[in-house]
Amino acid sequence: MTLQLNETHDVLLRSWVPSANQPESDFPIQNLPFAVFRRAGSNQAFRIGVAIGDQILDLAAAHAVHALAGYTELQGGHFTAAVNAPNLNGLMNLGAPVWSALRLALSRVLREGAAQQGTLQACLLAQSAAEFALPAQIGDYTDFYTSIHHATAVGKLFRPDNPLLPNYKWVPIGYHGRASSIGVSGQQFRRPLGQTKPPASDDPVFGPAKRMDYELEIGIFIGSGNALGDHIGIEKAESHVFGLCLLNDWSARDVQAWEYQPLGPFLAKNFASTISPWVVTLEALAPYRRAWTRDAADPQPMAYLESAALRDGGAFDIELEVLLQTEKMRHDGVAPERLSLSNFRHSYWTVSQLVTHHTVNGCNLNPGDLLGSGTQSGPAPEEAGSLLELTEGGKKPLTLSNGEQRIFMEDGDTVIMRGWAQKDGVARVGFGEVAGTLLPART
Ligand code: CA
Repeated sequence: MTLQLNETHDVLLRSWVPSANQPESDFPIQNLPFAVFRRAGSNQAFRIGVAIGDQILDLAAAHAVHALAGYTELQGGHFTAAVNAPNLNGLMNLGAPVWSALRLALSRVLREGAAQQGTLQACLLAQSAAEFALPAQIGDYTDFYTSIHHATAVGKLFRPDNPLLPNYKWVPIGYHGRASSIGVSGQQFRRPLGQTKPPASDDPVFGPAKRMDYELEIGIFIGSGNALGDHIGIEKAESHVFGLCLLNDWSARDVQAWEYQPLGPFLAKNFASTISPWVVTLEALAPYRRAWTRDAADPQPMAYLESAALRDGGAFDIELEVLLQTEKMRHDGVAPERLSLSNFRHSYWTVSQLVTHHTVNGCNLNPGDLLGSGTQSGPAPEEAGSLLELTEGGKKPLTLSNGEQRIFMEDGDTVIMRGWAQKDGVARVGFGEVAGTLLPART
């Protein structure tokens, strides 16, 4: 892959921001993810920030005090305009060499002993004092379906005699989703109304969806795009990816079951999708690459989806956790409870294959476009990334520690997803979290 280990990954690096040096921090100096923020409750313009420990470095402010001087990639009007923008699209469009130079500059000025410490202190805001916006203006959103464990489990529920369709092992399956209803962590949304068909009835009924679910996904933010008619080859695919975030693709299963054939999901999926504020760069994740393998008994990828670099390290070892806090738990002061733990390394298709497949027909991707990985369920039943799977289609209720039960989501439920990569001898790289709350249907 194009991104090798370098001085920014050195596990011994420490920051002059003390909280970044705590071993459990999601945001040590080796991570440096990007978000869009402002002081909570203010009417300031949103701005680009970089996480360091429990603080946010204001990127425009750091640039204004010349803390990023001395790097040719970080000079000129385009860079200045990009870091002063209210979203990441401009920075995304500048391309991988700029992202990498910026990471190196940030790593150096945030290190212990950096001469810029004095001037940059004034460019910090505590994350607890901030509110976040979507990191980018998302022009287009595509959702894939890359966990074969999820596809098989869901397929069994929707089509017991034919769970995994024959195209699955050849084509990275996806559909075009809806960008307008994507929100940032903290999003609250109403239970959708829609058509559903009760099993015992020949005709559908209209009303609030009854089988509300979440989907545990990774979001992939496109950085630099491709012109309409061009394609992005597998060797170059990752250099077009700005970074990854957490994505909860809320789903109304009863609406989905009635509407999904023959054209796929529609209103079951487009009422809300929630992403984490922080976007973690692929460079930060370089120490957590894993060899990508395909079972010898399965069809091997077609040539345009195959490469030696992909086999060497095209997969990412990212732990993914789902937690639930019911309204009663919130009222009683009870912490969110884990529902499942999975890992992105189980994905049947990789980030690079998704980008290449999406553009192989000449479809153009733009800076800020978002690709969803699809629900990341692992091979074991308890690693499932949705309630549909955990409750076996609503047949097996989950019992929480406080005695409450869930088949699908109840009004007032908050679902929280967390992600992190961690192993001995390497700095932890965390994603923070994405939380969202289901409100009652409109009356
Ligand atoms: Ca999905």
